Amino acid sequence: MRHTRYSTKRPKIKITEIKEPDVLGWCYADGIIEIDPRQNDKNFFLTLCHELIHHHFPDISEKDVIKMEKIMGEELWNRSVKKVIAKHKKRE
Ligand SMILES: [Zn+2]
Repeated sequence: MRHTRYSTKRPKIKITEIKEPDVLGWCYADGIIEIDPRQNDKNFFLTLCHELIHHHFPDISEKDVIKMEKIMGEELWNRSVKKVIAKHKKRE
């Protein structure tokens, strides 16, 4: 049976403008994730999902990370995250 190496360690997430063109998120080997805030709520959430997959499953290929981001991220966004953010914004 094939096992995928994974980490349960929580990353440190920094919201920061990323200088590299066309890059919206980074996941560093030392456990730091950077997310560029210049995205709409949904893309911000999907970028966060993407970088979290890299962080927790460091051996997964970029192609598979994108697949997981689309499948899990879209499903979570459509089912609950969208509603949670809308509810939270109403309270502000
Ligand atoms: Zn990636």
